[in-house]
Amino acid sequence: MASSIGNEKSVNPVLRISQLDALELNKALEQLVWSQFTSCFHGFKPGVLAHFEPEVKAFLWLVLWRFTVYSKNATVGQAILNIQYKNNLSQTEKYQSLSKQQKLWYLIFTVGGRWLEERCYDLFSNRQLQSFCKIKGYINFGAGLLKLCGLLNFLIFLQKGTFATLTERILGIRSVFCKPQSVRQVGFEYMNRELLWHGFAEFLIYLLPLINLQKLKLTISSWCLPIAGLSNSENTLAAHCKECSLCGEWPTMPHTVGCSHVFCYYCIKSNYLFDMYFTCPKCGSEVHGLQPLKYKIEMTEL
Ligand SMILES: [Zn+2]
Ligand SMILES: [Zn+2]
Repeated sequence: MASSIGNEKSVNPVLRISQLDALELNKALEQLVWSQFTSCFHGFKPGVLAHFEPEVKAFLWLVLWRFTVYSKNATVGQAILNIQYKNNLSQTEKYQSLSKQQKLWYLIFTVGGRWLEERCYDLFSNRQLQSFCKIKGYINFGAGLLKLCGLLNFLIFLQKGTFATLTERILGIRSVFCKPQSVRQVGFEYMNRELLWHGFAEFLIYLLPLINLQKLKLTISSWCLPIAGLSNSENTLAAHCKECSLCGEWPTMPHTVGCSHVFCYYCIKSNYLFDMYFTCPKCGSEVHGLQPLKYKIEMTEL
């Protein structure tokens, strides 16, 4: 149905970015399928798949090809982006689906090529014979040449905007949109708002590390909790000794800073290092050097 509609209209060229996105999506899907497939073999002896990995992969990609390019003229990534392959050999502007030969060669070039590459690598990686070395050299040369052609093709693709891969160029298949794309109109106000928000977020990212949040927190908490008087210091010290004025827990290695309050060594040291002008959060007195607590606290007080 869709193809009959497509036949009546002329084709729509696809943006370069969409073609590249489609390729990336294909790769992501293949990885997903492969990881799902290997997770099925977790219970088996390790290394079961290793011997036949290229063949198993080729079989999976064959199945994928059967239900995507063969039946729908588009890979999964292309289908997501509303793109499909067009037979570009016939030079008409009307949409023409791929011929059987093109689909078959597409399979051979993509799946077969990758299988050959992996299998050859396995086959020749452990052999040291003279003849093998020669063949290996030829294969490496061929692979390098193919990579170079791929690079050239990619540069031409960037220039002209058609045939993102070498396979597509050789087979004469081209990406086109399935349906005409609606014109994307983005409101000026929306763009303005986006820019403003973006700028604001950048500003916050720059500013936030400069604010001493610890000190801010302590200042606010000292506003909320009224500063205790310094009277009857003996009693209050005994009471204060039971908890660190910073973390509120039983003070570990209790230290004082010159007022009647007690802190864990770690709490007061880290705060003091962080802020040279640190003041006691309970009474607001400045820190005059750390002193280990001299008083012996009776455990019976607890
Ligand atoms: Zn503490
Ligand atoms: Zn204090």
